[in-house]
Amino acid sequence: MLVDFHIHTTASDGTLTPEQLVGEIEKHAIQYFAITDHDTIDGLKSLKEIPEGLLSVTGVEISAEFEKTLHILGYGFDLHDRGFNESLNELQDYRKGRNQQMLEKMSRFGMEITLEELIDEAGSDLVGRPHFANLMVRKGYVSSFQEAFDNYLKKGAPLYMDKKRFDPDKAIEIIHAAGGIAVMAHPYQTKLEGRDLEHLLKKLVSYGLDGIEVFYSQHTPLMIREYMGFASQYNLIATGGSDFHGANKPQIPLGVEVSEQDIQPFISFVCQRQRMHRG
Ligand code: AMP
Ligand code: ZN
Ligand code: FE
Ligand code: FE
Repeated sequence: MLVDFHIHTTASDGTLTPEQLVGEIEKHAIQYFAITDHDTIDGLKSLKEIPEGLLSVTGVEISAEFEKTLHILGYGFDLHDRGFNESLNELQDYRKGRNQQMLEKMSRFGMEITLEELIDEAGSDLVGRPHFANLMVRKGYVSSFQEAFDNYLKKGAPLYMDKKRFDPDKAIEIIHAAGGIAVMAHPYQTKLEGRDLEHLLKKLVSYGLDGIEVFYSQHTPLMIREYMGFASQYNLIATGGSDFHGANKPQIPLGVEVSEQDIQPFISFVCQRQRMHRG
């Protein structure tokens, strides 16, 4: 069956609006999905109605503090939980300050970009580095998106600025406090494997981690086997998603193919939450 529990929209660094995305989900006959924007649930909130027959669950992808990449997905939380909204707003306020500082740095490099242009490019006031990169290309300051990152925007490059992240235990805690479950996203991006990955996983489990993203567009069959092993060993729910970003990552299509048996525990959770939401 086709599912997708890892999708970005214009609310973060994807290129489809939540409404356009729902259209694509229907077109691709994806049965279950979740929108998981970076550090925001604004996209979900803007979505008024989901067509009948489509099943979705609330989602978010929180960047956690870690030497490499560590993203925690949250699912099934209450969209209107006060504390959760306040925590995410904290991250966004910090990001807005960061954008301002990056613009000032750019002008010192002779690149003139305004905040309005950035917001226009992003389609919302949630601006990220890919939006800077697109504008730099369009204005002729660099010749490609990748050049923008390699010469200016990647970690350690002259325009790079760190962003605020929660520690992994805090990310898990705020998801739980809002009634959701916490899932480790794309484990391969930690650049850890075997015992080292297991060590990190154990730590996350001690913080209350509920699941692991086993099925993912960039995971090899070998990775999938390893992560599925961890899922059964540590009693974690296996999830799956593409990490679709629209035209910002054109190599990643929507949807991942999973067997019903493998995804069943997560689907059960989704259905249970769905009933709770309908009240
Ligand atoms: P931000 O949240 O503003 O730090 O932007 C993070 C996004 O920038 C990621 O989701 C990627 O899409 C993109 N990105 C980060 N590093 C690179 C890189 N070295 N090359 C291309 N894109 C990158
Ligand atoms: Zn992204
Ligand atoms: Fe991620
Ligand atoms: Fe993602």
